[in-house]
Amino acid sequence: MADRFQILSEPSSTILSRTTGFIASAGFTHSLTPARNCTFGCTYCYVPTMRMYGGLKREDWLRWGQFTTFKSNAAELLERDLRGNELVYCSPLVDPYQPAEAARLAMPPILRALANKPPRLFVFQTRGPLILRDLPLILALAAKTDVRVSFSLTTEREDVRRWYEPHCAPFEERLRVLRALREAGIRAFATLAPLLPCDPETLANAAMDASAENLVGDPFHTREVKKHGATTRPQGEKVSAHRGFAEWHRPDFQGEVVERIRSAASARGRQFGIGPEGFGWLAANPAKFEERSI
Ligand code: SF4
Repeated sequence: MADRFQILSEPSSTILSRTTGFIASAGFTHSLTPARNCTFGCTYCYVPTMRMYGGLKREDWLRWGQFTTFKSNAAELLERDLRGNELVYCSPLVDPYQPAEAARLAMPPILRALANKPPRLFVFQTRGPLILRDLPLILALAAKTDVRVSFSLTTEREDVRRWYEPHCAPFEERLRVLRALREAGIRAFATLAPLLPCDPETLANAAMDASAENLVGDPFHTREVKKHGATTRPQGEKVSAHRGFAEWHRPDFQGEVVERIRSAASARGRQFGIGPEGFGWLAANPAKFEERSI
């Protein structure tokens, strides 16, 4: 594992960015990105297709997943910049619990800084079981502000997971993490994004067994629908073509899958929301904590 990627570190001038586009329309005011480039290296990841618009350097999109560069002064920047009214999404550009985090331990000082000057809402977007390492710090933060986790479940099929996201944890392990977060009292959403080839009802029901929340999700981004901006990485499209899953990129087929998940959710009194609707639930109605002066 250690040889699969390089870990770099450098100071940054910013840690909190004002949101735009998709995440802003979901209701988040800021994003927090602890590193550049993600060592999960998923074949379909949309981030490298953003190139410099995702804050990347050329080497990042050319060697996506092969190295990552942590922001060495993240905690200090947070202490400087947090104001207490932010709705923070961590992160649209990297998984905060990517494999390199196991060695780098960038998140513990970030979580301590957040607990010192808590934002109004903090949402982790991750697929990394490593999040449980930081559960005591996450609970300490949750005592001061509204903390939620959006945990990615992409398919219940292990063969599919290995083809598209070989460095991510198996489905059963991810379900265990969702259950552990929920049992610890953290609002943990199952986020079915991107929807990889799967049995939609099996995926939806397993997700609802593990999480008490509505289901969030998104099919593969496709240029047919989304003319500009981030889209599915070509490596993911190649896997689909090679494995006979090209229809999972077709809007009509995606619509049928979404409807099947909606029906499965509705049968259990839940909702399934895609795009800004679903991601908006992650930011909706932050719990009120006592007035803070920072
Ligand atoms: S975990 Fe997310 S950010 Fe990281 S490579 Fe996979 S899709 Fe991209």
